[in-house]
Amino acid sequence: MRTPDEIVNRLEDQGERLTIQRRVVIEALTACGDHMTIQDIHAYLNQTQGMALSETTIYRILEWLKRLRIVAQTDMGAAGIVYALIDNPLHHHLICLRCGRVIDIDDAYFASMRRQLKADLGFITRIDHMAIYGECEQCAGHHDGETD
Ligand SMILES: [Zn+2]
Ligand SMILES: [Zn+2]
Repeated sequence: MRTPDEIVNRLEDQGERLTIQRRVVIEALTACGDHMTIQDIHAYLNQTQGMALSETTIYRILEWLKRLRIVAQTDMGAAGIVYALIDNPLHHHLICLRCGRVIDIDDAYFASMRRQLKADLGFITRIDHMAIYGECEQCAGHHDGETD
């Protein structure tokens, strides 16, 4: 996990302007680990810094971080739309539609897909933090023989 200073320094080196609001959002993301909703960030800044950034402001800062590939936005189903720092190594999630179980998976599963899409279509994929929906082993086992 990177520190907020590392991220801030890197962005400043790229010529980005780091306002106080931008800095505290980066701090929130690094302090809490990954998977924060906009509401989580809002609540965190309120509690720890006494700063009441509007959800629109936070959203705009997250869009900026997404463009710069610091943050990935992922729809985690029941957990909502979460923002996560893009870290090395990358990780992704399998989410069970029946029981809601979340299984973390390694980025290796996407390596061949990336290669193939680049070779076939010249397409450079950005699979930074992916949620794939389906049924976990246990839930799938409960309705063997069903046709759905
Ligand atoms: Zn994740
Ligand atoms: Zn399940």
